[in-house]
Amino acid sequence: MTYDVTVIGSGPGGYVAAIRCAQLGFKTAIIEKYNSLGGTCLNVGCIPSKALLDSSEHFHNAHHTFKEHGIKVTKTEIDFSQMINRKNEVVTQTVQGVEFLMKKNKIDVHHGRGSFKDKNTLMVTPEKGKPFELATGHVIIATGSKPATLPFITLDKKRIITSTEALELKEIPKHLVIIGGGVIELELGSVYARLGSKVSVVEFFDSIIPTMDRTMGKELQKVLKKLGFEFYLSHKVTSVSAKGKTVTIEADSPKGEKIELKGDYCLVSVGRRPYTEGLGLENVGIAQDKAGRIEVNERLQTSVPSIHAIGDVIKGAMLAHKAEEEGVFVAESIKGQKPHIHYNLIPGVVYTWPEVASVGFTEEQLKKQGAKYKKGSFPFRALGRARASMDVDGLVKILADEATDEILGIHIIGARAADMIAAGVTAMEYRASAEDVARMSHAHPTYMEAVKEACLAATENRAIHM
Ligand SMILES: Cc1cc2nc3c(=O)[nH]c(=O)nc-3n(C[C@H](O)[C@H](O)[C@H](O)COP(=O)(O)OP(=O)(O)OC[C@H]3O[C@@H](n4cnc5c(N)ncnc54)[C@H](O)[C@@H]3O)c2cc1C
Repeated sequence: MTYDVTVIGSGPGGYVAAIRCAQLGFKTAIIEKYNSLGGTCLNVGCIPSKALLDSSEHFHNAHHTFKEHGIKVTKTEIDFSQMINRKNEVVTQTVQGVEFLMKKNKIDVHHGRGSFKDKNTLMVTPEKGKPFELATGHVIIATGSKPATLPFITLDKKRIITSTEALELKEIPKHLVIIGGGVIELELGSVYARLGSKVSVVEFFDSIIPTMDRTMGKELQKVLKKLGFEFYLSHKVTSVSAKGKTVTIEADSPKGEKIELKGDYCLVSVGRRPYTEGLGLENVGIAQDKAGRIEVNERLQTSVPSIHAIGDVIKGAMLAHKAEEEGVFVAESIKGQKPHIHYNLIPGVVYTWPEVASVGFTEEQLKKQGAKYKKGSFPFRALGRARASMDVDGLVKILADEATDEILGIHIIGARAADMIAAGVTAMEYRASAEDVARMSHAHPTYMEAVKEACLAATENRAIHM
């Protein structure tokens, strides 16, 4: 079997790279060690978490907002196993979609662990059956990441769990203690808080979603508190142990006091580590950095020029759409084209309710750069659309260059922020000024009017509805 390009790993980076390679006329293969295609994102990440977020949101609304809408529901009950089954069905359908795309694009799929024999020879070791070799001109490594832990925590995967187990629980936790206040943790915490769990978040930093604009973290913390979340910020976890059905978490408070939390489950979500085990990188001399990420140049080539790496296994945000962009970028680079990725314009989203979505620089980054900027913000509460749907929590914050008015950052917390941010990316890709956006007609009533109004506020403090 001889290929122009072979991709190792079928997550959003790998399968998108394979499709683009096939579109460009390359004879392409993809190697996936699991039976199911789609990687973390489709199987134990983006898709299953969103399925559970939607189910739990329906339950929460039935309990909390239907009454105000004039809908009486006499009895609501959770059928948790059905909720998990539906999530699994969504995953299956999505994975089948990728299988279909592989066939449609005539991409050969080989199941088994891929590893380097040399730069043009890959070994595929299936779970059952004999290993075999593939000859290939180019290789794209897209092997993704796995959950990380802290050195003193043993994940038993029953009571002390990662996001993977949190998507597959057999019961709703009574008290879920979460170590980490980032995106994945707050999304999964939201699922269980809506279903009735007590949720406590212990975070080392002094704010949640610490990589996003601080205003977003503050606002999100307020809404999650209303949902019943309990936060222990600036707390350093020192031990986690499980005995029977109880997990005990000890942490040092900012004042140096010891606190102890007891729950029935502890979700450890302290980041993810690049996954390169068994790849045989040493056989081709591919360099990795201290964090274990594969080192790449600006063309995403490893130290061996015909071998590229993309997605979670290299530096940068661990996001499905970042991996996808890199997949397309590498395929086009191999073809000899000159693609470009604007990393600063890759949006970040948190699928809590309300959602949080951001693109461009945060205010903290601009301050650090010493940039001269102005800002404008507009609350969802002042929108007719938000009042109609009872989604009044949140705001839009626009950061623009003080002299040129070019938009430098867009930060939204509010209903449908995840979908709204695409308009912000478009504006920033075309280097729009705040006034450009403010002068465009936005349909009424929509949530997007908050973006227009925040741009007006940033332009000359001339928001209309505030
Ligand atoms: C709970 C959760 C929720 C998330 N939600 C979102 C979200 O809403 N939006 C978002 O953008 N991102 C989200 N992410 C992150 C997203 O899933 C990752 O950024 C994305 O999957 C990375 O894609 P990838 O292609 O680099 O790697 P992966 O998706 O991790 O895929 C790597 C694949 O390579 C395979 N592989 C590894 N080694 C080998 C080998 N030697 N041989 C063969 N195959 C191999 C693995 O089995 C895997 O299938 C979430 C993650 C989690 C855990």
